Amino acid sequence: MSRSWSILCTMILLLCGCLGPDHRSENHRDRWAIAIHGGAGALSRDAPEEAQRAYRESLQSALTIGAGILQGGGTGLDAVEQVIRFLEDDPLFNSGLGAVFNSEGKHELDASIMDGSDLSCGAVAGVRTVRHPITLARKVMTETRHVLFAGEGAETFASECGVELVKNSFFSTDRRREQWIQKTQQKKGTVGVAVLDQHGHLAAGTSTGGMTDKRWGRVGDSPIVGAGTYADDRACAVSCTGTGEEYIRHAVAHSVAARMMLAGQDLQTACDAMIHQVLQPDDGGLIAVDAAGNIAFSYSTGGMYRAAADSSGRFEIGIHDEMITVPGS
Ligand code: ASP
Repeated sequence: MSRSWSILCTMILLLCGCLGPDHRSENHRDRWAIAIHGGAGALSRDAPEEAQRAYRESLQSALTIGAGILQGGGTGLDAVEQVIRFLEDDPLFNSGLGAVFNSEGKHELDASIMDGSDLSCGAVAGVRTVRHPITLARKVMTETRHVLFAGEGAETFASECGVELVKNSFFSTDRRREQWIQKTQQKKGTVGVAVLDQHGHLAAGTSTGGMTDKRWGRVGDSPIVGAGTYADDRACAVSCTGTGEEYIRHAVAHSVAARMMLAGQDLQTACDAMIHQVLQPDDGGLIAVDAAGNIAFSYSTGGMYRAAADSSGRFEIGIHDEMITVPGS
């Protein structure tokens, strides 16, 4: 009697043990979250309403694309790539069309993408004719055994794998030319995305034209995995924007993950420590999402173009301190 009672108890415990975690992970699997940035250092609050509206509308459209993919059960990598492709085509942002000019009056573009499920990643630096550098970065990740292609080699790889090529002048806009002529250093407009998908995987990506009037051949943090971009399912997905040299020196994106894994910090604490304690004021900002679907923004500039959505119904964008809820599609 007591033996069958103990067998029964054991079976109940085993059953609970089997159902419990699965039940929890099922809930967890339904969860998704996305954070987007369009660069740190924003328009002043006094900028014409029309200019501010243009940024808000673009961020809202980008968020709609990303949230739609994640809500439909798509992969984080697809959300990262598709949102960044959209922003690369928007001349408001310093990536793809509308990228800043370098010291030669040309455009050299950098991008990277990372899959938090297995740490696979791909990046390109200094590309001059690739319309969507983020797509080329993803192809480096999925179609080669390497991580980072630069300059000529990246261009040759681009022509071999059939991504869309354009003339370098395709990326030029009057606004960026004027900033270059005026030598206005604009810490604005790099784009990045960090996501948790419904499969429980994190992914991140970043794309940029770099810094206005940068010396040709200069590469910033955006294509450097661990500096401008990082994703690890055990911790978080991160995309950075700001003075690239500082982000490289401090391995900012990876440091956020390391603080979570090694020091037990929560996502926002880890992000704020890197931006406000390690980096200098005005260096820039970052966005991050953790494995539980928390979203963090941190920046030390006057603002950061940003957007966030998740499976709880959050759907909001921000430029300066406040975030505003906008209609999703
Ligand atoms: N981090 C980029 C770079 O240094 C620029 C930016 O984010 O504004 O190339």
